[in-house]
Amino acid sequence: MKRAEIKITGIVQGIGFRPFIYGLAGAHSIRGWVLNNEKGVFIDAESEDGDLEAFVKNIPKLAPPLARIESFDIKYLEPLGYTLFEIRKSEETQEKFVLISPDLATCNPCLSELFSRENFRHRYPFINCTHCGPRFTIIQDIPYDRHKTTMDPFTMCPVCRNEYEDPKDRRFHAQPNACPACGPALRLENGNGQEVPGDPIKKSLDHLAEGRIVAIKGLGGFHLACDARNQDAVSSLRSRKYREDKPFAVMCRNLEEAKKHCDVSEAEAKLLLGVERPIVLLRKRDSSSIASAVAPYQDTLGVMLPYSPLHHLLLDGPLKVLVMTSGNVSDEPISYKNEEAFHRLSKIADYFLFHNREIHMRCDDSVTRIFERKPYILRRSRGYVPFPIKLSFPLGMILACGGELKNTFCLTRENYAFISHHIGDLENLETLTSFEEGIEHFKKLFYIEPKVVAYDLHPDYLSTQYALSIPDIPKIGVQHHHAHIVSAMVENVIGVALDGTGFGLDGTLWGGEFVRANLRDFDRLAHLRRVPMPGGSMAIKEPWRMAMVYLSEAFGEEATQLSIDLTKRIDIQKWEILKKAIENKINSPWTSSMGRLFDAVSSLLSIRDEVRYEGQAAIELEKIADHGIREEYLFTLRKNESPMTIDPTEMIRGIVQDLGAGMSASTISGKFHRTVARLIVDICEAIRSKERLNRVVLSGGVFQNILLLSLVTKGLRSSGFDPYTHHLVPANDGGISLGQAVIAHMRSLQCA
Ligand SMILES: [Zn+2]
Ligand SMILES: [Zn+2]
Repeated sequence: MKRAEIKITGIVQGIGFRPFIYGLAGAHSIRGWVLNNEKGVFIDAESEDGDLEAFVKNIPKLAPPLARIESFDIKYLEPLGYTLFEIRKSEETQEKFVLISPDLATCNPCLSELFSRENFRHRYPFINCTHCGPRFTIIQDIPYDRHKTTMDPFTMCPVCRNEYEDPKDRRFHAQPNACPACGPALRLENGNGQEVPGDPIKKSLDHLAEGRIVAIKGLGGFHLACDARNQDAVSSLRSRKYREDKPFAVMCRNLEEAKKHCDVSEAEAKLLLGVERPIVLLRKRDSSSIASAVAPYQDTLGVMLPYSPLHHLLLDGPLKVLVMTSGNVSDEPISYKNEEAFHRLSKIADYFLFHNREIHMRCDDSVTRIFERKPYILRRSRGYVPFPIKLSFPLGMILACGGELKNTFCLTRENYAFISHHIGDLENLETLTSFEEGIEHFKKLFYIEPKVVAYDLHPDYLSTQYALSIPDIPKIGVQHHHAHIVSAMVENVIGVALDGTGFGLDGTLWGGEFVRANLRDFDRLAHLRRVPMPGGSMAIKEPWRMAMVYLSEAFGEEATQLSIDLTKRIDIQKWEILKKAIENKINSPWTSSMGRLFDAVSSLLSIRDEVRYEGQAAIELEKIADHGIREEYLFTLRKNESPMTIDPTEMIRGIVQDLGAGMSASTISGKFHRTVARLIVDICEAIRSKERLNRVVLSGGVFQNILLLSLVTKGLRSSGFDPYTHHLVPANDGGISLGQAVIAHMRSLQCA
């Protein structure tokens, strides 16, 4: 006889781990018990030697698909003479800390039950089991038990209760377990709040088919849905939502349908079908029947597949593709509560498909794409959060408050960095409230009481102001681009951080930065030559201003006389006023931003003079670029300056010359992308000759540009560099809270 005490941590709760252990114990004639506590799963097992060994070996080998075992400790003890194997009640101990699963796409066994006429859950929109369904969005507190989720008000019927209590059942301790008799239900209302009689799904589909807009409550919030092939419906959704050009995501019935509208590689198919079910950016096919208003001026389309039973039912009808965009007005956070959604979305939606299972935490859809056959995350939210990033070293308890746009925050403990769901742009009260509530919720879920707060150096960021207002706690300011690089890296490297704006150490706006960085410190070794931004943030909204700035740098007084379309289009008087403002240093901050250079070129090529969403000018510049171009423009690298500077004046002259010669915007954009890639490689070579560093980390929002990313990666590799980029967190500002947390941790060690 042998007895072993086994402690397993990781994602081992709420995913069918105990029934699995129970079944495995039966197969190996094990006696004893299993229970959940706040640290994980705890097993006391005893049996004959060989059986016990096989049992122990099979736990990690045969664990349920969603389990993520982080640690596995065994201690051998004196046998106690157990006579049977049982599942014991969850323990509540002092130190609560357990990993929590993200929300998961409907599993195949649940799907076949959903569409089986014989099953009592046939077409039940809330079917789930331990392998699938809502988690993060319904959990109010831990440990993860039904009474601490928003399923608490629903009392299980005897059938559901039996499944829930049967260790051999797929729904054993499935906290959201429900059926038509006892669980949540749908309700369709019109714009006046009156219930629409009849089957809510069928009726919703009727209205969608007529071109109406329906607000649909999903897992992490409301979507606004309409028929993706109906140009009028999509256009009216745009105008009602005050969203001019920013693309909408669509949901396709299945992979086959997605392939009718987009090219789908094997890696993209895998990502589309994964349990996370993110939106995947795919190349749109010319033959697609999806309305052009879904993603104007784009050759890509954000596509996702159904991830909740309700989605499967909605897309099983006559409409095979629906627009499914976040249920919000303009840049506000996504609506997630029934009354609030009805109130906020009443001017957009004609109908509301509600249900009465509350969402406790809002969570937007994640956005991804594939780069070099691996996932490249642009927005890390539903399906990924709150699964932590595992670090190779332990951290203290730190709160990192993130940036301003695409905000996420990050809380750390031990080897884990818990990056929050996508909070959004911290520009209005609703988003700020959501940020503050999110922080409190994560602190509670993971039992983290921060000892250090990390924040961005930008004094105007609401996240910075929030951090500085927390009393009695050490605060560490972290430079924006240092946080970018650290969010992607592991050791001393050359960091290339290219983005729109980040507050620099000299008070100017950085964004074309080349640094030597480690987890604690950085040195700015090179940057794009700085230029003024006339009108400050207005220069971000109106790229023509940056185009004129760069033209003036290259041609002086003659800039306005140039025979190109831009100078004919612009309001010369307005430009004269801006020029005066630059001369007198009025609201014209200096910037070394790469994002602004992309904006300038976009406007020079008559692609976009004014933007309607962040990054639009650069996105459209990438879109039209001819990938087959081999030529490049000239530029000047001033290696004897410290930091070194990159002067793009020659390139601007070259672009104007090409425009004069009638070269197409697509060719010029191709040449521009190659030039930027070339200058990045050249600067890295100049840095390598002094610093002897071979690893290059690429981060910052500009690297969402896949053409640039792939040109730079290839160029660096052929020069013998080791390029690194993001796979777990976004390259844009959604990733910097992780960088802040790590830097603050390293600096707080130094202080201690
Ligand atoms: Zn399931
Ligand atoms: Zn039931």
